[in-house]
Amino acid sequence: MADDAPNPLAGKPCPICGKAMVEKYRPFCSSRCADLDLHRWLTGSYAIPLTENDDEDGEEPSLAPATPRER
Ligand SMILES: [Zn+2]
Repeated sequence: MADDAPNPLAGKPCPICGKAMVEKYRPFCSSRCADLDLHRWLTGSYAIPLTENDDEDGEEPSLAPATPRER
């Protein structure tokens, strides 16, 4: 298991984690990623968007007015 050196010939990165793909597990980099991908398909979560209720990205409640800016 120690001779799992990354293959420089690999053209595409692993679609799961982006690492260099390994011939043995292609198009993934490891059995784990292959498993993950399969799992996604099986559970049908492939269509589910990554975003859930993450409002921490700069969305402010419209209750309070933004700090008045003086010019
Ligand atoms: Zn991977």
